[in-house]
Amino acid sequence: MQAPDLWGMVAAMAATPRTEAAIPAWIESDLLVAIGRDPLGLDAIATYRIMPELLPGILQLSRRARYFSFFAYLLSVFRSHVDQPTMRTLDQFIRRAEYEYGYAVLTCERCSDDASWRTGVLGEVRLRPARRDRPAALKRGLSVDTTLGGYGLFYRSPLQALNVVATEDTPLDETHRAPHDVLANSRARELAAHFAAAVGGTEWAGRYLGGDDPVPARTLKELADAACLCRLDDAKEEREALIALFTTATTEAPPAQRLDSSRRLQGLAHFLEIIGRAPAATTSIYAWRQAMWEAAVALGLDDHSTRARTSAAWGAFAAREVQTAAVGIIFDAACGLGKSKRPPEGWRYRTFLAAAGDALSAGTTCTGIKITAGDKTRAFAGRTAQVNSNRPLEWLLGQAKESRLVPDALSLLLELCRRLPDAASMPPEWRQVASIDGEHQDGLLHFADHLSAHLETDPTLGQTVSWLVRRYVLSPHEQVAMSKLPRHTFRFRYDAGELVFYQSPPTDLGDGILRHEPLSLITRDLGLWRDDGKGAVVTARGRLLIREAFAT
Ligand SMILES: [Zn+2]
Repeated sequence: MQAPDLWGMVAAMAATPRTEAAIPAWIESDLLVAIGRDPLGLDAIATYRIMPELLPGILQLSRRARYFSFFAYLLSVFRSHVDQPTMRTLDQFIRRAEYEYGYAVLTCERCSDDASWRTGVLGEVRLRPARRDRPAALKRGLSVDTTLGGYGLFYRSPLQALNVVATEDTPLDETHRAPHDVLANSRARELAAHFAAAVGGTEWAGRYLGGDDPVPARTLKELADAACLCRLDDAKEEREALIALFTTATTEAPPAQRLDSSRRLQGLAHFLEIIGRAPAATTSIYAWRQAMWEAAVALGLDDHSTRARTSAAWGAFAAREVQTAAVGIIFDAACGLGKSKRPPEGWRYRTFLAAAGDALSAGTTCTGIKITAGDKTRAFAGRTAQVNSNRPLEWLLGQAKESRLVPDALSLLLELCRRLPDAASMPPEWRQVASIDGEHQDGLLHFADHLSAHLETDPTLGQTVSWLVRRYVLSPHEQVAMSKLPRHTFRFRYDAGELVFYQSPPTDLGDGILRHEPLSLITRDLGLWRDDGKGAVVTARGRLLIREAFAT
């Protein structure tokens, strides 16, 4: 059977320049993370352009599976718990329920000793005093300060993307609009019914939900025992319904939603296969990234199976994260030099570029290669290839992050580009993801092409560093910081022809890699892998999901 050409559409999407206005609403909560922390506009490429293709509908902080059914349940019972169902009363209803459920989860006798099972529990900060005091009855409280709480911040948009929630004002038919967020269809109602079945017999659901009286601790214990985030394994039907929600579209869903479901199925299956290769990938982003890279470059020449295509797409994402970290080191070094070595007459653009080339390219790499600004870059590339032939990229990246020296970053970039597989021999998804550029930055392949053209001129290391600083540091940072005005995020700025550097915090060097936590936690919550005490193991259900994803 021919695999559906899901990825053909990626190329079309990637080719269309997207503005922030065109970003789907469900990506917006990532903005909180991106702004001010992405001085070169490199993370934005992954956030806005790559991730929506690889793992649509799952946000960095929508990371616990059972909240998807919890909120469906809350919406299903909301009208029977308030006098006037409006967005304002829904806000209070949801934030209080999050608070009570959060307390139940955080005091759950089964899972609350394990930090990884406490991760992503809504209301955690607000619940700290109560968790410390362990009152006989929990006074009512609100989980989070913002409107609609954790639901509004992290789950509402994904639930909308997954077609579970029709948000306020969505047309329901020709004459009616949703007066407040409601369940969108019968699948959503079934999902709600599964959670209702779990909590149905509890005092919390029967007597306290939506009320004002303090909730007795024993009632919340009963709630945790019945329906904690960790107890999906007791609720097989609910768990299957959640797996189906993430990985299959309803029959009436439009093509875009079907495509998103296939992508999520493939993304989850790919993550499970990576666990098979490297069990540490469940907790370590470094192990995850390295394994994704290795899986992609190990692909057979004519392998265009769905598995290979998925592997190629995620491998390109992993490689791009390495590029981002290396450029970040050069950025930090350039800012540090600009701040600490300002000449009495100030930095002019050209004098700064020349100084950066001279000062930053000289030194000794972590592997012991001594270099000066006058050495030829191609000779250095040859030596670095020789010395590092048996070392994984992730090792080189780790060393470069530790030293934060440009020679190590340079060595990493040259090795990354040397090791990139020939795009012609890869499934097209490799090129499609690797060619996604940002508004102010080159993506992986264009960076590699430009570096290769630069090397053709047989530059010295000083010239290479000047070129990198000019093209990948000065110019993009200025444009990125300008675009964020009136917020001042400049690390340096032109002032009367002079380049003035400000005090800069260190840049996040590839440690904020996207979607690792939701991938890991959601697949664990869904029982697709488990920790058997010696490490992560993919379960029989996980293996079935892999087969479903990669059957073609
Ligand atoms: Zn639990």
